[in-house]
Amino acid sequence: MPPIQDPVEVVILAGSNLDKERCLPESIRHLRRQPGITVRTVSTCYESKSVGGPAGAPDFYNAAVLVTTTLDPEALRERLHGIEDDLGRQRSSDPSAPRTVDLDVIYYGVLAKEYDGWSLPDPGAESEAYIAVPIAEIAPRWVHPTSGRTASEIAESLVTEDSQVIPHVAIRLSTPYTTSAVPDFDDVEGMYAPRLEAIVRDQLIEIGEDPDREGLQRTPRRVAKALDFLTSGYTSSVEDVVNGALFDAEGANEMVVVRDVEYYSMCEHHMLPFFGKATIGYLPKEKIIGLSKIARVVDVFARRLQVQERLTNQVADALADILAPYGVGVVMEGKHLCMMMRGVQKQESSMVTSAMRGTFRSDARTRSEFLALAT
Ligand code: ZN
Repeated sequence: MPPIQDPVEVVILAGSNLDKERCLPESIRHLRRQPGITVRTVSTCYESKSVGGPAGAPDFYNAAVLVTTTLDPEALRERLHGIEDDLGRQRSSDPSAPRTVDLDVIYYGVLAKEYDGWSLPDPGAESEAYIAVPIAEIAPRWVHPTSGRTASEIAESLVTEDSQVIPHVAIRLSTPYTTSAVPDFDDVEGMYAPRLEAIVRDQLIEIGEDPDREGLQRTPRRVAKALDFLTSGYTSSVEDVVNGALFDAEGANEMVVVRDVEYYSMCEHHMLPFFGKATIGYLPKEKIIGLSKIARVVDVFARRLQVQERLTNQVADALADILAPYGVGVVMEGKHLCMMMRGVQKQESSMVTSAMRGTFRSDARTRSEFLALAT
């Protein structure tokens, strides 16, 4: 397991001047979907002239994004390049060529450092109004680590008659939404996920609905947000949620059993919910884990497209991995809507799956002790 560093506050500038109505919000959604990156605040979308480009180059949309991350600067930069590639960025030797999306690390905490071909903070932080203005909106008191000036002082000094950085009122980026926080599916202000929303809209048309009727107008955005939350397991990891909350067992050698951990997942065959309760037990060796963390480990795997058998195995393997106990047992009971909503007399059917590791598998007495506690 790689060492987990404490999250660092980072300011990223997102920019686009090609298919920008779609690409700018999309780039922020992709940021939200990255493991190890949590989006905290997104600025207004600003419009500005292309800097240093040929005459007539399309204007840019820019937004500043405050995130926290556990990635080091180089890994973060790599990750941002990956998002640029996903959004169709064509790299060329011409630095002023139009681009679908540009994601630059402007500030990384208080770090001031030269890298091969780039540096932190980004030199543009103190020279370009299109960078400084959005940053001053979301982090006015951010202190530049070498000059000591605040973001709002820098922005004020750069705004002139012809710097032309203007808020773009038609494009409203979605308010902060993190997949780890309590989701508000009805918060549908601003741009969120243009591509996913377009697909949901098409889906409504395909099933014979009118996506423009009043009740459905905001449905694509709600569905996109709900889907992001319900599949947020793809962007979280066991390491992230456990986050060091392991304790010395101090000689505790009794079986630990947590019963009735609620979970909600979606079957990978129909993308319909299945849900139920999990009972998890382990026999500690050297480490124990906070009980609330066990539920979070279940969520990491439940919030994906799943089959119940694999979900059960993944929870058992993850706990065996992080706790290295004498043994682990997981029993899950689940009701599957794809079964319950079709056919008759299936409404009460639920499925039980189990996974045993270590002494829970090899020792019949341990297993039966667990199963007696579990049921
Ligand atoms: Zn199914």
